[in-house]
Amino acid sequence: MASAENCFPVANGPSQPNFTIKYTKLFINGEFVDAISGKTFETLDPRTGEVIAAVAEGDAADIDKAVRAARQAFDEGPWPRMSGLARGKVLFRYADLIEQHTDELAYLETLDNGKPFLLSKYGDVDVVVKGLRNVAGWADKISGQTYKMDGPYQGMSLYEPYGVTGAIIPWNFPMAMFMMKVGPALAAGNTMVVKPAEQTPLTALYLAALAKEAGLPDGALNVVPGFGPTAGAAIASHMDINKLGFTGSTEVGKIVMEAAAKSNLKPVTLELGGKSPVIICEDADLDVAVDIVNLALFFNMGQCCTAGSRIFVQDTIYDAFVAKAVEKAKKRVVGDPFKPEVEDGPQVDETQFKRILEYIESGKAEGAKLLTGGCAVGNKGYYIEPTIFGDVQDDMKIAREEIFGPVMSVLKFKTLDEAIKRANNTAYGLAAAIVSNDIDVANRFTRSVRAGTVWINCYHVYDHSLPFGGYKTSGFGREQGLHSIHSHMQLKAIITPLKDSPWL
Ligand code: ADP
Repeated sequence: MASAENCFPVANGPSQPNFTIKYTKLFINGEFVDAISGKTFETLDPRTGEVIAAVAEGDAADIDKAVRAARQAFDEGPWPRMSGLARGKVLFRYADLIEQHTDELAYLETLDNGKPFLLSKYGDVDVVVKGLRNVAGWADKISGQTYKMDGPYQGMSLYEPYGVTGAIIPWNFPMAMFMMKVGPALAAGNTMVVKPAEQTPLTALYLAALAKEAGLPDGALNVVPGFGPTAGAAIASHMDINKLGFTGSTEVGKIVMEAAAKSNLKPVTLELGGKSPVIICEDADLDVAVDIVNLALFFNMGQCCTAGSRIFVQDTIYDAFVAKAVEKAKKRVVGDPFKPEVEDGPQVDETQFKRILEYIESGKAEGAKLLTGGCAVGNKGYYIEPTIFGDVQDDMKIAREEIFGPVMSVLKFKTLDEAIKRANNTAYGLAAAIVSNDIDVANRFTRSVRAGTVWINCYHVYDHSLPFGGYKTSGFGREQGLHSIHSHMQLKAIITPLKDSPWL
């Protein structure tokens, strides 16, 4: 791992592109406007903790204003009345515009979130563009069925948009999570109110401006930055929002679902936390296994709901695996995320930074063996060393709770049955992985593990065509592609008599 001296000070290093920040106000009914209260909040640079920009702070009154705009756009505007083909055309144009603004979007994402610029550019923007094109292509291919009924009637099912949908977005993949909800909701003909995370509001506002430029009608997409307990809670409890998508912590997911139930019983899709197991079997190629776990946990500074954070290693290869895993973790380059050689930027904010350091202290206090890392890096910003604990026991806090940071727990197992049982012994069920060259072992694991995504001999491979979502307290509902289109639509049954037809 690079030392702090290698990486600092580089806040304005030569490899950092420089764009001015154009959008900091609420986007309601096609216009950038101040909050009704006039309030703003500061969004901070995680490299330094310094202010990037003051952003308009929406609260319940602004959410209500945005919902009224979205309602009018749905009830009276063109968006839900256009053909799917016409909607798709606007969304394809939107994807083209996003692609044309890749550098600026990637710059804003890295500035606000701290993730490596090259990841923002080639990962996040790419995911946004591909996901949007995928759902744009579905817009004119949404169809129901006809049914043969038990009697002289004909039955049909018809997919219809819900109406006004709400989305509450997290800060770990701000653009990608924004589009994972906005793309399918719009393709299906809904209108929307979106609240980005308070840590990372900048790319959502930029994406709102591009939507307008692409020709999205005013009011169809409204973006209201603000805080969770105020703006977020106002979305969850709003009586005129018909469907809600939330990605974030399990704790807040429960609050949001309760508010949805107590208000107008709006359906919710929840994508929540995880504590995903990775099983390394003794027949695995050690170098491949080490590469997989290194990516599984340290990718995006460990700030992934799918992070592989419980690494179960078979006892016969445990020592050899740990030695290689530590060696690889030490080589990771931590530093300014705008530098191309940097793999790990800062954690998103001071709250997360402190929380992760507390988890590291709890690992030490509970008797886990600190094999590498464990400290903050540098004297400003929120950088943490890639950290690995060995000899971790299932009941330790670091093995049970979602850390959302670069802290890997390595646990030892003897038999596959034991590994499966322990892998499933968690409240979460978002993802899991196995590294083995034995297809029977891999198949047994994939069928036995209670998780929404299971990787064999790989990790963090996603696709806009694959269903994405959790089991257990990792949430419910599936996002991506057609699954997501359907989750943003109602299914109506229509019945008509069949007169004078001998054929039922
Ligand atoms: P994290 O712990 O990773 O920051 P959260 O679950 O707290 O994740 O936040 C995810 C999103 O949920 C953010 O947009 C945040 O503002 C929002 N949020 C937080 N608290 C609430 C709440 N009480 N009601 C609605 N949204 C909330």
